Amino acid sequence: MAADEYIVGITRGGTNWTPLFVIELDQSTCIGCGRCYKVCPRNVFELVERDDDDDDDDGFSDDTSMVMAIHDAMDCIGCGACSRVCPKDCHTHAPQAPSGDLTVAA
Ligand code: SF4
Ligand code: SF4
Repeated sequence: MAADEYIVGITRGGTNWTPLFVIELDQSTCIGCGRCYKVCPRNVFELVERDDDDDDDDGFSDDTSMVMAIHDAMDCIGCGACSRVCPKDCHTHAPQAPSGDLTVAA
């Protein structure tokens, strides 16, 4: 990818890097462990109650299980820490054009 197509950061040493912003969180695989919430340096995530889903016929209500959600995607700095700690590979990241257009990372 060409560096000037996306929002680009710069390290203290002057090296460019392309932030990969979180754009999706797969709640179907999330176990609500909270690792991504704890490691995120911004206010991006929130732990919420999973939508009640009683179609599994196990006789138990799922309405108390917790799952992570994206609370404020616009606060993400694209550091990638959330994906590095997630045991279930729930997050999807993408670079962002200065115009605001997102491109799903390969
Ligand atoms: S990429 Fe970094 S700032 Fe963005 S949600 Fe993940 S941990 Fe937070
Ligand atoms: S680290 Fe992964 S499994 Fe744990 S709460 Fe975050 S998204 Fe869910």
